[in-house]
Amino acid sequence: KSKKLVGYAPICSGMEDFYTRRVYHRAQDCANRPISSAPDSWIDVVERYSNDNNKTLHRTSNSTRCINLGSYNYLGFASTDEYCTPHVIESLKKYSVSTCSVRVDGGTTKIHSELEELVARFVGKPAAIIFGTGYVTNSAVIPVLIEKGGLIISDSLNHNSIVNGARESGATVHVFQSNNPAHLEVVLREQVAAGQPQTHKPWKKILVIVEGIYSMEGEFCRLPEIIAICKKYKAYTYIDEAHSMGAVGKTGRGVCELLGVDPADIDIMMGTFSKSFGSCGGYIAASKEIVRYLKHACPAHLYATSMSPPAVEQAICALKVILGEDGSNRGAMKLAKIRENSNFFRSELKRMGFEVLGDNDSPVMPIMLYNPAKVPYFSRECLRHKVAVVVVAYPAVPLLLNRARFCISASHSREDLVKALEVISKIGDLNKMHAEDNRKKLE
Ligand code: PMP
Repeated sequence: KSKKLVGYAPICSGMEDFYTRRVYHRAQDCANRPISSAPDSWIDVVERYSNDNNKTLHRTSNSTRCINLGSYNYLGFASTDEYCTPHVIESLKKYSVSTCSVRVDGGTTKIHSELEELVARFVGKPAAIIFGTGYVTNSAVIPVLIEKGGLIISDSLNHNSIVNGARESGATVHVFQSNNPAHLEVVLREQVAAGQPQTHKPWKKILVIVEGIYSMEGEFCRLPEIIAICKKYKAYTYIDEAHSMGAVGKTGRGVCELLGVDPADIDIMMGTFSKSFGSCGGYIAASKEIVRYLKHACPAHLYATSMSPPAVEQAICALKVILGEDGSNRGAMKLAKIRENSNFFRSELKRMGFEVLGDNDSPVMPIMLYNPAKVPYFSRECLRHKVAVVVVAYPAVPLLLNRARFCISASHSREDLVKALEVISKIGDLNKMHAEDNRKKLE
């Protein structure tokens, strides 16, 4: 199907599996780290191991400066910012790194409450509650919302934090084919008819959980159709907008804005501050009743140290820039830039013959590598040419659906993107050439 990256990668040894995992984790390590000494579209990738002719691994501390296509720094806030950074430094001086206290004791400062109000206003819900990380938000909130006797219908590609939250809840969990409303309806209809296991009593409640952008596919959630089905079957909706909030929509308000959905039609809106906002932490935005309930019942609110104040300040400032409340139009410019960059990169990859997944306007862009042997080859060659990418292999995706995933940022310059595209194209051609060589040798 694909013009490029067909056939076998030339190098495949026992070390490769280790290398693959290392590259994946390394790229994950790099995500969202501010690099004040470099432009924010570049990253210093630390080579923790060297591979001596594929025989021995040695620890090293070499580092390579690369174009960063591997982090979720969608709007470029994970770097020194003329508005955010001075405020973050001030909050560090005022509150220090940690409150060393839980929210209900001494862990709620003025800025924690300010961020909750700002998030609610930004996403268009009556109230919000914040948590230390996005992962904790999903895994600790879902079990408080639903329990045994309830039914969760979860998208098959939902993030691990959702999977763990759903398991922890004790509710019955069924999965529907990713982003397939027709299959969601089949599962819902069957389960509503069957009722609870053994007793067949009606479900206490039904919660449908989806994501705004599927981070391994780059696709937008088919939200309007999913909401219509949920209304028909009286199911609650829960959307994780980790990758979409701040990154897509004309004013950055995520898939609701992009797809013309009224936030009032979604019961629970979840998001993280670790992507578009260049910080760390997570939130739930919902009705006042739900948020009040979470503040009384959610263990991560009652027993976990509150979000680090400088991280809170960073999220507040990034939101203010996006809202234009910093007194500039940088937010609007960043949003226009990420859209322009994403659409340019996607159309160029397609023009070069790659099989690209996802939708236009989506900053998440996987290209299919399929064969597991190509995964380490691709990432190693990119790194050699100073482009840091995330490669995704089993078990994060099915065994033969391996891919490389590029995350585009508003902070990438056109020059960065053109350079990265040249490298990616060259590797694709090399791979094709080796495949043809191998084929000839076999003939
Ligand atoms: N949800 C999704 C869809 C994610 O991709 C992630 C992290 N990549 C999380 C939740 C967890 O967020 P955090 O990293 O901010 O804890």
